[in-house]
Amino acid sequence: MPTYPPEPFRIKMVEPIRLVSPEERRKAIQAAGYNVFALRAEDIFIDLLTDSGTGAMSDRQWGALMQGDESYAGARSFLRLEKAVHDIFGFNYFVPAHQGRAAENILSACLVKPGQYVPSNMHFDTTDANIRARGGRPTNLVIEEASDPSNMHPFKGNMDIAKLKAFIEKIGPENIPFGMMTITNNAGGGQPISMANLRAVSKAYHSQGIPFFLDAARYAENSYFIKLREPGYADKSTLDITREMFALADGMCMSAKKDAIVNIGGLLCVNDEALYRTICNELILREGFYTYGGLAGRDLDAMAVGLYEGLDEAYLAYRLGQTAYLAAIINAAGFPTIQPAGGHAVYIDAGSVLPQIPHGEFPGQALAVEMYLEGGIRSCEIGSVMFAHPDPDSGEIIYPSLELVRLAIPRRTYTQSHMDYIGDTLARIASRADNLRGYKFTYAPELLRHFTAKFQPL
Ligand SMILES: *Cc1c(COP(=O)(O)O)cnc(C)c1O
Repeated sequence: MPTYPPEPFRIKMVEPIRLVSPEERRKAIQAAGYNVFALRAEDIFIDLLTDSGTGAMSDRQWGALMQGDESYAGARSFLRLEKAVHDIFGFNYFVPAHQGRAAENILSACLVKPGQYVPSNMHFDTTDANIRARGGRPTNLVIEEASDPSNMHPFKGNMDIAKLKAFIEKIGPENIPFGMMTITNNAGGGQPISMANLRAVSKAYHSQGIPFFLDAARYAENSYFIKLREPGYADKSTLDITREMFALADGMCMSAKKDAIVNIGGLLCVNDEALYRTICNELILREGFYTYGGLAGRDLDAMAVGLYEGLDEAYLAYRLGQTAYLAAIINAAGFPTIQPAGGHAVYIDAGSVLPQIPHGEFPGQALAVEMYLEGGIRSCEIGSVMFAHPDPDSGEIIYPSLELVRLAIPRRTYTQSHMDYIGDTLARIASRADNLRGYKFTYAPELLRHFTAKFQPL
């Protein structure tokens, strides 16, 4: 069992949470149409729905917030953020956006034409949907090891370089407006990507004249994994590793709600000046002027501080240690998880624990509902509810290879006893897993359906 690293912070403000009765939980989930997204937060004891925007800001971030400059254009807050973004990521141009998907929307609006393909290791759901919304075809080319939950590959988020080269050859670079990499690979278990792989991806895209964009929500966790696991990086700082990663790309989209530890915010960076101009126009149309991008000045300041705090190595050692600890106690409770433990979340392999529930009846959804009923814990299905979709050519439903339940850990928010409580709750569920049944949709929109779908137990 990995030891639990003592938190490298102490608590000076608390937010009460409460466990409502089993009867209230039953009523609440029923009223929510068995979709945990529709629960009221006050009915949840431990909320692991997402690590996005749910972390605890530091005293320094709250202090920076008070200095926000709310000028419409050219605010000091923007200049402070610009300095941090330039120092850490190094791109020529950047705009703030209100969150990651806004940056993806702007980028897709500027570059994706109907019928074009955008390869990546694995697109996250919002990236996937934003490319599809422009008629594009997101394509996942992650290494084979990623779909084997027990494979201990240290960089399971890596791109399959041979597949990527064959794909570019087959589709033709003229039909690929840009290529991507998601670091870390959220949809595939929060798994990191090695520097060597990023270098090879960059070369594969650039040799064909294809611009390379990073989807970089977890830049800091990825850097720390490289430091821990990739030969030659043990003595480099996470900041230097981050700079080396981003120097390989032509731009990035980023949700700052993850490693930059803010409640709202995102970034879109590019090196190309003409593209930057187009982005500014698109941003002004949809988000706001290019020096605030839909955010308040104070949000930009909190982000400027958070971008560095996310890179702090004592914090990252605690962060990845907490995740590894949670994975170990969940395994001890009888649930397999994606191995090795990822950065921001533990992914339970619901498909293998609930073999009686087929893909089309949503095993991950069944486990997520059960965790709420048993312990007031909110998690997130990452399986067929989120990713099954009809093939654009044949109309046949394509199911993802894994049916996962993600327990995302908000940053600097929960303690070891919360983690132990989660392990105890899962141990109780494990003893009756054979009796769990699946769900069917009573409502589902076409895109991003997990957010608003309604279900009925079978
Ligand atoms: C969260 C996330 C996004 C979307 O960002 P939002 O801020 O939620 O809009 C995109 N890509 C990845 C990898 C993410 O983790």
